[in-house]
Amino acid sequence: MSKREFQTEVNQLLQLIIHSLYSHPEIFLRELISNSSDALDKLRHLTLTDDVYKTVPFDPRIDLDLDEEAKTLVIADTGIGMNEEELVSHLGTIARSGTKNFLSQLSGDAKKDSNLIGQFGVGFYSAFMVADKIEVVSRKAGEELAWRWTSDGKTGFEIEPAERLVAGTTILLHLNEEGKQYANSWRLQEIVKKYSNHIAFPIFLTYDKSEWNEEEKKSIKTRTTEQVNAASALWRRSKNELEPEDYKELYKSITGDSQDPLFWFHTKAEGSLDYTTLFYIPAKAPLDLYQAEYKVGVKLYVKRVFIMDDAKELLPQYLRFVRGIIDSEDLPLNVSREILQQNRVLTSIRTASVKKILSELKSIATNHPDEFAKFTAEYNRPLKEGLYGDYANRETLLELVRFKSTKVEGRTSLADVKSRMKEGQKSIYYITGGAESLLRTSPLLEIYKKKDLEVLILDDDIDEIVFSGIDKYSEIDIKAVNKAGTSEDFKDDAEADKTDKEAQAENLKPLLEKLKATLGDRVKDVRVSERLADSPSCIVSDEEEPSIQMQQMLRAMGQTDFPAPKPTLEINPDHEIVKKLLARPEDATAEDAAWLLFDQALLMEGVALQDPANFVQRLNRILNLSI
Ligand code: ADP
Ligand code: MG
Repeated sequence: MSKREFQTEVNQLLQLIIHSLYSHPEIFLRELISNSSDALDKLRHLTLTDDVYKTVPFDPRIDLDLDEEAKTLVIADTGIGMNEEELVSHLGTIARSGTKNFLSQLSGDAKKDSNLIGQFGVGFYSAFMVADKIEVVSRKAGEELAWRWTSDGKTGFEIEPAERLVAGTTILLHLNEEGKQYANSWRLQEIVKKYSNHIAFPIFLTYDKSEWNEEEKKSIKTRTTEQVNAASALWRRSKNELEPEDYKELYKSITGDSQDPLFWFHTKAEGSLDYTTLFYIPAKAPLDLYQAEYKVGVKLYVKRVFIMDDAKELLPQYLRFVRGIIDSEDLPLNVSREILQQNRVLTSIRTASVKKILSELKSIATNHPDEFAKFTAEYNRPLKEGLYGDYANRETLLELVRFKSTKVEGRTSLADVKSRMKEGQKSIYYITGGAESLLRTSPLLEIYKKKDLEVLILDDDIDEIVFSGIDKYSEIDIKAVNKAGTSEDFKDDAEADKTDKEAQAENLKPLLEKLKATLGDRVKDVRVSERLADSPSCIVSDEEEPSIQMQQMLRAMGQTDFPAPKPTLEINPDHEIVKKLLARPEDATAEDAAWLLFDQALLMEGVALQDPANFVQRLNRILNLSI
């Protein structure tokens, strides 16, 4: 037997691991199983590629053996194994470049260092959190001799020849005070299912199973071996091996949803980064879709080992309805949340995943519009959030979002709106600010109806915020109809009867002045409208100003640090009421009429009146006259 000291860095690392991971020591099992899985992968690879190993029998399995009485736990595999030299270098020194790197960055500040640890593997040493003595017996594939490595994780390790029937590694943990909780078969099964369910190899647990014996009328313990993991990382198999049923089953098992998903997108990336993603779109939007504390639906795996399922950084927030799996080959098992936020590997996976999801959706939209309509019904609004937040994918998102419109039943795409544009039409128009019924009857739409121009009806609460930031779709201007300024599309007309208009404006001037004087500082301006046909009046806002509905909303949310909204009142010179007012400027009802023109325009835009009592009195005075 030979006694060796640990390399000094090993001691340092051990202390740090124990210090930083003490809150969830159960990860030791995840680490050891992952090492076994790596060792099995390596041997399988050799048996497939190396003639020397072709004849080596390969019976891949991982065995957990629990002795509750003795408080020992064995983790054994039939993998590649280690010879003497490897035991010394892999378990006794810091040979790995990543760890070396890590240690060179240590500052001595415990808190900072324990954050750092998430960037690197913790691996084998984590077992010293739960064991005060570890024995490793390993036999390298293709070699006859086995070796035993023993350590208390403090001073150093001993190494001596041993025996092992076949190649592989057996790790015997003498559980310490902290580790005793794992001398429990339920607990072990639970941990395996949580982290290692999809390890590609079967994991067996041997333990004393208590079962009721009817004859003896008592429960009897029998030594039992059971497989405890599913052993199938379905997402790691190639697409053409998988049936739709396989995908649906996995979906249901990871989400608990009883319905089939709408779509799934399965991607294997190889190259500078190796990872697999499998994303699902649920048939029905998750119930917490619009709650601030929504549950994340994408699970992160590293080499088939479950890492976490609550990382909001895996996908952008607007894709929070997506369910599925990201499985990376390049992240350390111990990756922490803090690290994820600025991890280059994850950033690349995330960027590519978003692109993938959106491009798949786009191809469904093109090739299976009926299927896509189901998607729209559930997820149109979150995609709009994406328009606001995901600048890089705005073009694609604009293709995916669907709109209500004055021209079609149901919803339409911007591409279709574009294809319906009239000869010479310069912009695409939309109206925001209220419920659909209100928008559809808005006086602001009259000129568009008259000119047979399509207007998009944007009735989602976030539409105004989102669309005030979007001014083009494939080179075409997108414009709000409730913003002041005459559209280019009406200019030609305006040009045609310019002299007419000028004469009319001159004629109307006294009325406009009078209205302005009456309404005082409630309006910014009063002017002749070019957008009205049937209504006598309407209100509009300046292009750069939030609309009056928006201002109302901001106010309701407690934002009051801007001046009271001052819309511009526009009047329709061709309307009977306006004509009559013009003909009888000194009429006793003129003042009431002025306010009613203004208030009705506000009402039509869904804006609450400041003084409803006054409005009703005026209305009644006029009613009284006319009855
Ligand atoms: P990592 O897995 O990140 O390399 P670990 O500390 O978990 O770090 O393991 C260190 C090394 O020890 C592994 O890289 C591997 O070479 C070796 N090793 C650990 N466990 C086993 C095992 N069960 N079979 C074969 N080799 C192993
Ligand atoms: Mg490891």
